[in-house]
Amino acid sequence: MIAQNYQNVIKKMALASEKYGVSIPELLAVSKKKPASAVAELYAQGQRHFGESYAQEGVEKVEQLQLHNDIVWHFIGPVQSNKTRMIASHFDWVQSVEREKILLRLNQQRPDGLPPLQVLLQMKIGDERSKSGADKNTLLDLLELGSQLEHITIRGLMCIPPPADSQSQQRAYFEQAQQFYHQHQQRFGMDVLSMGMSNDFEMAIACGSTMLRIGTELFGARE
Ligand SMILES: *Cc1c(COP(=O)(O)O)cnc(C)c1O
Repeated sequence: MIAQNYQNVIKKMALASEKYGVSIPELLAVSKKKPASAVAELYAQGQRHFGESYAQEGVEKVEQLQLHNDIVWHFIGPVQSNKTRMIASHFDWVQSVEREKILLRLNQQRPDGLPPLQVLLQMKIGDERSKSGADKNTLLDLLELGSQLEHITIRGLMCIPPPADSQSQQRAYFEQAQQFYHQHQQRFGMDVLSMGMSNDFEMAIACGSTMLRIGTELFGARE
């Protein structure tokens, strides 16, 4: 089942990329609420990037799968300050940074001997309905600060747009992120724009996503 889903997703990604004339994005498999055995199954198909949303659950899986030592683990959930040490010690990437305090703690708590933590800043998209993410001024401050931190490398932006009632709405949300990304990409050396989930990834590809975060389409519905 997972192998079949994986082939389908890869095929859809290739078709959409061809249709819109863009390169095929990286695929992050979102394994939250799925057992380590499901991760291992997808790993066996060749997938290497996996994403988790809850610190405790994520760290348990990282430890269970230690022997699969070329998995690249991404933390994609809200980051509470009492979890930063856990996250900085066990994950390779954090995609959901939206506050200075969290950025500083991750930098400070990244263990010596590990490569810099790869960080994406989460951008607020849409209007007041979206609760998470930083506004543009905060993003610029965080990009500036991040460029000076020794144990952090800021790679780009992540966004979760609010539910859209139409395709054009969906496109407009992704284009907000794409525009800000392109405007500041060179200055800050960003190379990752993480957007697109199971139900909107084709539109995200159309709007220049470089990394999709897909759970349901790969692992089936979560409980
Ligand atoms: C759960 C989650 C996903 C994956 O969502 P699906 O709809 O299952 O593909 C992607 N990004 C984030 C931040 C998530 O929390």
